[in-house]
This record gives sequence, C-alpha cells and structure tokens, in this order.
Amino acid sequence: MRPEDLLLPTPSGVCCKRGGFHIDPTRPVDKAVITHGHSDHARAGHGAVLATQETLDIMRLRYGENFARKTQAIRYGETVALGDATVSLHPAGHVLGSAQVLVECKGFRAVAAGDYKDVRDPTCAPFELVPCDLFITEATFGLPVFRHSKPQEEIAKLLRSVELFPERAHLVGAYSLGKAQRVIALIRAAGYDRKIYLHGAMEKITRYYEMRGIDLGPLEMVTGSKKADLAGTITLCPPSAIKDLWTRRFPDPVACFASGWMRVRARARQGGVELPLVISDHADWDGLTATIKATGASEIWVTHGQEDALVHWSTQQGLRARPLDIVGYGDEDESDGVSDHGEAGNPA
Ligand SMILES: [Zn+2]
Ligand SMILES: [Zn+2]
Repeated sequence: MRPEDLLLPTPSGVCCKRGGFHIDPTRPVDKAVITHGHSDHARAGHGAVLATQETLDIMRLRYGENFARKTQAIRYGETVALGDATVSLHPAGHVLGSAQVLVECKGFRAVAAGDYKDVRDPTCAPFELVPCDLFITEATFGLPVFRHSKPQEEIAKLLRSVELFPERAHLVGAYSLGKAQRVIALIRAAGYDRKIYLHGAMEKITRYYEMRGIDLGPLEMVTGSKKADLAGTITLCPPSAIKDLWTRRFPDPVACFASGWMRVRARARQGGVELPLVISDHADWDGLTATIKATGASEIWVTHGQEDALVHWSTQQGLRARPLDIVGYGDEDESDGVSDHGEAGNPA
C-alpha cells in the first residue's frame, strides 16, 4: 500500500478516505479525530469527534456543550474500527490528553503525531514511540538553531530573579492550555511552595488539570489582590497580558515569557520580555530528528511550521519526505505572543 492510499493531505487537513475521517481538520467535517485541545487542532462544528476524554473535556470547556453533534472518547492504546481502517491513540507528551493517531490498514501503519515533545512533562503522559511506515511530524521548531534548554534551568532563573527582587512582581506569560500548568508544576518541583497567582483567563483549564489529579499547590486568582501584597509573588498570565494595562495592578512587574521562541533574543526584546524562559511543549530540532529516525518510517510528511529544513534533512537520511501545506495550524500554542488567538477577550 502506498501512503497516499491510506491518508491524503487536503486543504482541510489529513483525510483518511477508507475510514471516512479527517485528522485535526481546520474546517468542519462529518467525522474528526482530534489530537489535542489547542484551538488550531481542535475546532468546534464537526459532526462526530473521536479523541481522548481529556481532549473532549477541554473542547467542552472552551466551546460549550454543543461543540460537536456526537463525541466518542477512547483511552490510550484502545483500538476502534472506522470503515476499512483501525485507529488508536497514543500519548504525544504535548499537553494533558494529547495523542498521536495511529491509522492501520492491511498491515500499513501511519502515525499522525499532532504536536509532540519527547521531554518529560509532569502534567501529561510521556510521549510514546509508535513504530510506523508513514510518520506525519510537526515542525514548529524545525530548524537546527532550535535547541531547548533544560526546563529546570529556566525555572531556576525565574526563582533566582524572584529572590533578587522581593519588591517586584513576576508576571510569567504562558499559554493557558498546557504551558501554564507545566510551568506551575516545574516551579513546585523546584521546591517553591508559596501561593502562585493566576490571571482569570487561566482558571477553568487549570482547575480542570487539578480535577484530573495534577497537583499544582496553592493557587489564587489575582483579581481582588492588593498591589502591595503582590510584591515578591509569581503570577501566570496569557502572553498578551504582559503588554496590557492589566499589568498596572502589579508593583514594578518583571515581564517573563515561557516559550520555545525565547531562544530568539530579538523576539524577546520585541515583545518587551525582560526575563525570557526557553520552555517549549514542542520537540526541538534534536527531538524531531531523533523521533523521525526512531519510528523507522520510510516516508515522512512535515506540517505545521518550519517544514523545509526537516524535509531536506529527511531526504538526506534516504527517506521520502514532503511538506504538507495545510494552512491554519500553529495559531495558538507557541505563537510568538504577538498574534495571540484564543486568549483574546477573556476577562482578567
Ligand atoms: Zn498544540
Ligand atoms: Zn499545533
């Protein structure tokens, strides 16, 4: 079987004709398999949605009860038959509930990994390597310059700054789904046990993480806190809020931003970020290339970001590779904070 006999890239996303479904479709379709809850992958308005329970819950939190006509939750490793194909979901290590989609037909195995990282994250199940013939990889950080630091070292920088400036408030810009909770968990793992404050836009998702058993320690909404009481504290907020009038409620705030893009100094400067924290929920160049090799796939499709360098690298390794020019991914998580879809309009 040729890869294109099983999966077909279309402008609305990757389509499996034999199974009658699309993966992470960017437009409304009859049947969607969805890898995770970020808004560029999980959109409202599909007929039926198959995903992990967490992804379905997150979609419900963001879009309301009627985000799809029908939903079906499956557990990691569970297999369902869709038309001529079988589908199973496997941890992607990206955010809570995130999954790679394995599609099998007549012995041919294709994996659409969605967004993924191969680095341990205390707030979600670790990435599982799924051997396959066709591997569809993201390429958000698909350039050799992107090598993420150890997240623990970045958190140590933050805590050092908090200690150094007890009269200032630290504002950490982080995406509401996944990054914020991971940053909190990392701060806790570093031994910080004081109250951590949250921007109102993060409350629902963060409470949901706690409900699923992820311990984030004492948290409080920043709304209603006195300015003087916020000296020496840490507050998590959406990246856009760092540049907002909202920051006036804090004493002499230190603007921090947790993102893989903080590797690029110019981006940090442009965004008015005083303390960049290179923490990403996507695999870096080494992670992407190591994962591609380890899957054993002979065909690589690259989507979502810096596609050309990874396609070129794959070809050099003797693999068949092509970019998928699907428009509409990469809007939410790890954008550079300038265009900040999904967070706008949320109350402080
Ligand atoms: Zn994502
Ligand atoms: Zn994405």
